[in-house]
Amino acid sequence: MANSRFLLSPFFSLPQLPSNPIQSPSKNHLQIHSTFAKFDNFLDLKPESKPKPLKLDLPLFHPYYDRSRFDVVVVGAGPIGLRVAEQLGGFGIKVCCVDPSPLSPWSNNYGVWVDEFEDLGLEDCLHKTWPMASLYLSDEKVKYLDRPYAQVSRKKLKMKLMEECIRKGVKFHKAKVWEINHQQFESSVSCNDGTEIKSNLVIDASGFTSKFTKYSDSNPRNCAFQIAHGILAEVDHHPFDLNKMVLMDWRDTHLNNEPYLRQHNKEFPTFLYAMPFDSNLIFLEETSLVGRPALPYTVVKKRMAARLRHLGIKVKRILEEEKCVIPMGGALPEMPQAVVGVGGVAGMVNPASGYAVVKGMAAAGRIARVAGEGVGGGGGRMIRGRALEGRVWEGVWPMEERNVREFYCFGMEILMRLDLDGIRGFFNAFFDLEPFYWEGFLSSRLSLLELAMLSLSLYQHASFRSKLDILTKSPLPLLQMMANLTLQALG
Ligand SMILES: Cc1cc2nc3c(=O)[nH]c(=O)nc-3n(C[C@H](O)[C@H](O)[C@H](O)COP(=O)(O)OP(=O)(O)OC[C@H]3O[C@@H](n4cnc5c(N)ncnc54)[C@H](O)[C@@H]3O)c2cc1C
Repeated sequence: MANSRFLLSPFFSLPQLPSNPIQSPSKNHLQIHSTFAKFDNFLDLKPESKPKPLKLDLPLFHPYYDRSRFDVVVVGAGPIGLRVAEQLGGFGIKVCCVDPSPLSPWSNNYGVWVDEFEDLGLEDCLHKTWPMASLYLSDEKVKYLDRPYAQVSRKKLKMKLMEECIRKGVKFHKAKVWEINHQQFESSVSCNDGTEIKSNLVIDASGFTSKFTKYSDSNPRNCAFQIAHGILAEVDHHPFDLNKMVLMDWRDTHLNNEPYLRQHNKEFPTFLYAMPFDSNLIFLEETSLVGRPALPYTVVKKRMAARLRHLGIKVKRILEEEKCVIPMGGALPEMPQAVVGVGGVAGMVNPASGYAVVKGMAAAGRIARVAGEGVGGGGGRMIRGRALEGRVWEGVWPMEERNVREFYCFGMEILMRLDLDGIRGFFNAFFDLEPFYWEGFLSSRLSLLELAMLSLSLYQHASFRSKLDILTKSPLPLLQMMANLTLQALG
């Protein structure tokens, strides 16, 4: 799933994507223009929603009047940046959040498990909830997951985080950060409007394509990618139960008349992710779970067109469009370094699922505590320079979390090696596990020991074919994981 503002990063090459309008979350907030033309193919339709900026009186940083030195500058007002800024504000320190358009709506369409948002105390920021999720493995085999799933209201979430920031005294600066320079005990953040902001610590939450958080040349990032094409569409009708969101639909009968596409899909499968809002409004997203190199975007769209045709879904209007590219796995940034990365830029995406928003926001509290106390807030003893940066990086990626991430990367490497039948066998066994395991895995909350237990249990639940897959496809990734764990243990 890649958004319109996704620029090509210096760290990895991505398929170039066309531009994408910023989206708003709910049907009520959409401005739907009437379109009377008849369309045979949804790929010809253009998204019609007009996003509205949030209405808030932002406390802005005034370079000429304000004391221009902050304890922490947070670059980026995405979900992770705002959560970090808001939590930092709770330490009574001076925080400035810099973003070119802090009041613009976010464009990504976030789906989360309801319990995850409850744990964060953000359940009032959900737009629509489904009591269950369904998983179509084939025409014959469907599983129902008894775990409520929700679409996040981007507007409510951003509003809530912004209001908290304002309440806690965070200042905002509307500009793009251009360059960050570091002296021994202070950093200068230069913006494209000519402003220079000084601070003790800079936290980079500017997303996957940030150039401020450095990756090592000797340890290439080598990410894989999740690619997806999503639409929020008004349709004549659709076949899905309104009480269940579709987590994954791996059926491939829609490709029966397209031998080339069908064979290709067998080798590099994609699935449909769907959130039915009512009988005429549905979010549909064809997704390549993970691939290296990324599955071409045009292939994903062609498969989606064939699937919708087969399901008899006629798209009348597209209200929002989501072009999704998520870098998954790969090396972590250099640690420590002067800029502290969080969220997408710091490898916080779950390498086996592509989910990140909950993990990033959950980590924000821990990171803010270390950073806030480190700069002298909340009664903490002030430290500066490299000592401060090192300590905050430890808060971003504690050793246990790094080890756990290695396990997820191992899972990702296996998933990438599975064909359609292998994937079906894997998820059949995976969702037969105790909910503690599959829920914990998807929410990134298992310890390394629990993940090892999960692997054993998964192997026991697996079919003969899946056992064979695990045995033949895991040795190399397993070796890689062991080597990485050893290197990490050696420091
Ligand atoms: C299309 C899509 C859909 C996704 N869906 C889900 C999902 O359903 N569930 C889930 O858990 N995860 C999802 N993810 C993964 C992940 O949660 C998101 O990418 C999430 O937005 C990452 O948050 P972030 O705050 O790190 O970065 P971003 O959300 O990318 O925010 C970065 C912010 O930094 C600002 N910025 C960028 N450059 C600068 C600069 N130079 N100076 C100042 N500001 C700057 C941008 O304007 C933006 O506001 C999705 C990702 C994508 C791309």
